[in-house]
Amino acid sequence: MRYIRPLSMEDAVGQLAGSPGTAAILAGGSDLLVRMKGGFIEPDLIVDIKAIDGLGEIRETAEGFSIGAAVSCALMGESAALKREWPGVVEAAKLIGSKQVQGRCTIVGNLCNASPAADSVPALVAAGARALIVGPGGRRTVAVEAVPTGPGKTSLAKGEIIEAILLDRRAPRSGDAYLRFIPRTEMDIAVVSAGVNLTLDEQGVVKSARVALGAVAPTVLLVDEAAEALIGRKLDEAALERLAMVCSGACRPIDDKRGTVEFRRKVAGVLARRAATTAYSRAGGK
Ligand SMILES: Cc1cc2nc3c(=O)[nH]c(=O)nc-3n(C[C@H](O)[C@H](O)[C@H](O)COP(=O)(O)OP(=O)(O)OC[C@H]3O[C@@H](n4cnc5c(N)ncnc54)[C@H](O)[C@@H]3O)c2cc1C
Repeated sequence: MRYIRPLSMEDAVGQLAGSPGTAAILAGGSDLLVRMKGGFIEPDLIVDIKAIDGLGEIRETAEGFSIGAAVSCALMGESAALKREWPGVVEAAKLIGSKQVQGRCTIVGNLCNASPAADSVPALVAAGARALIVGPGGRRTVAVEAVPTGPGKTSLAKGEIIEAILLDRRAPRSGDAYLRFIPRTEMDIAVVSAGVNLTLDEQGVVKSARVALGAVAPTVLLVDEAAEALIGRKLDEAALERLAMVCSGACRPIDDKRGTVEFRRKVAGVLARRAATTAYSRAGGK
């Protein structure tokens, strides 16, 4: 097994693309090392991306934020500007594991591990985040929901690395929120989760919305009909009821010891409702 720590994206992409055997990218390692130690994978090449110039930085531009692929979730929690504009994304990142795990783990690793229960992904999907991908064929940008294609699978081609997650600058009167249900108080995997992101007009009416559900299908669900339940309304009881009903209906969960299908459907509606209420008040709605 070969371990390398390239200093540039070009080198990292070249090494990955040219590797004859199996290769893995190492960010925080909180998924990769667990899988290696468990004997599930044994990559021939490990490409540690943490020394690549700029990957450990959160950059603020006129367009929004660029969160480098090696930025830890702990660092995201320390960015006052990111927390102010995207509190839901940051609260999702800060739910991953424990303080120790957050000191290492990244939202890009969370996305590329492609667990249906990954905490940061519904918040990122609701936020309309994009992944900036660099590969042998050049650069491309895709919606984050296009990255995971099923449990443990992604749409990334050989040699491709996500360089950063891009979040737009917020319009005035915008808010987002993320909630998950776990049977314990922390250090557990979401049984159901919901991310909501919305923007209000001057009268407090929802102008635009995105609603995403986690752990209720093989990949995170972006539920357009749930967003439609909110758009054009203040967040009254009728809108919240319709949101919950649509979200419960959109779920395609599995039945396991952590939650039945019926339970997951019910909780998806409850969490979407609560996340929408928080997002609405963060946007200044009353
Ligand atoms: C104790 C513990 C508790 C946990 N709790 C939670 C939890 O509450 N919620 C949750 O969602 N997850 C949890 N996890 C899982 C894990 O911490 C997260 O998924 C984390 O965000 C992974 O990030 P990482 O940087 O450590 O990824 P890594 O392990 O470094 O990588 C994960 C996968 O992504 C790929 N990858 C990494 N970076 C890139 C890149 N830039 N481009 C392309 N592919 C890349 C890797 O090759 C690998 O396949 C937990 C893990 C542990 C060990």
